Amino acid sequence: MNRSQRRIERAGELAARYPNASEMLRFYRELAIFQSGPHADLPSLVALVSRAGTPVLQEAARRLAPEHPLYGFFERVLEQPRFEQQAAQSGVDTRTVQPNCPFCFEKPVAAVLRPEGDGGRRTLVCGRCSTEWEFRRLLCPNCGEEDREKLPVYTSDEFPHIRVEACDACRHYIKAIDLTRDGNAVPEVDEIAALPLDLWAAEQGYRKLAPNLFDC
Ligand SMILES: [Zn+2]
Ligand SMILES: [Zn+2]
Repeated sequence: MNRSQRRIERAGELAARYPNASEMLRFYRELAIFQSGPHADLPSLVALVSRAGTPVLQEAARRLAPEHPLYGFFERVLEQPRFEQQAAQSGVDTRTVQPNCPFCFEKPVAAVLRPEGDGGRRTLVCGRCSTEWEFRRLLCPNCGEEDREKLPVYTSDEFPHIRVEACDACRHYIKAIDLTRDGNAVPEVDEIAALPLDLWAAEQGYRKLAPNLFDC
C-alpha cells in the first residue's frame, strides 16, 4: 500500500474511533483521495470544498482569491503531491539532525517515535513534502533546548500513542506519534485526529511548532 492509500485508510479508521474529530477526518480523507486522483486542479478542489469542507472553508471557496486568508489551504492541498514526489526523488540526506525539513526547510508538523530495535529513533515529519528526517529525543526543534527538566512530555488516556512534547524554554510544542504503541498510525493523519491535545496545549500557554492543513 502506498503512502496516500495508507492515509486514506487511516483517516477512515480514525474517523470511526474519534467522534469528536470525525468530521475533519472524513473531509481529510476526501482531500487525500482527491490528491491521489487524476484531476487534482483548483476548480475540482473548489468543488470538493464547497461540498464537503468546513463552513469556513466553504465560505472561502465561494470567494476564493489569492488575497483571501484561507487561500494557503487550497495551495497546500494542490502542491503537496508534487512536493512529496519531488522530495522522494531528491535523494536529500534525512540522516543529518536538523530542526527544519532538509528538502523544503519547513518546520516539522509532527514527530515520530520508533521501536528501539529500529534505531530507537525520533524523527520529524514535514507537513508540506512529507519528508521524514532524524532528530534527537531530548532536543527542542524550535530553540535547541536540551535540558530534560525543561522538556516536559504530556500524555492522555484518549490518545495513548500520541504525546505532547513541549519546551518550557520557548513555550512551543510538537505532537509525537509513538509507533511502538500503535504500529498502524500514519503520523500526519493521527496528528490531525488528536485535535483535543492541541486545545489542551493552547490552554497551557504552549504554541504549536507548525500548523497542519486545518490549523492554518
Ligand atoms: Zn518538507
Ligand atoms: Zn524550545
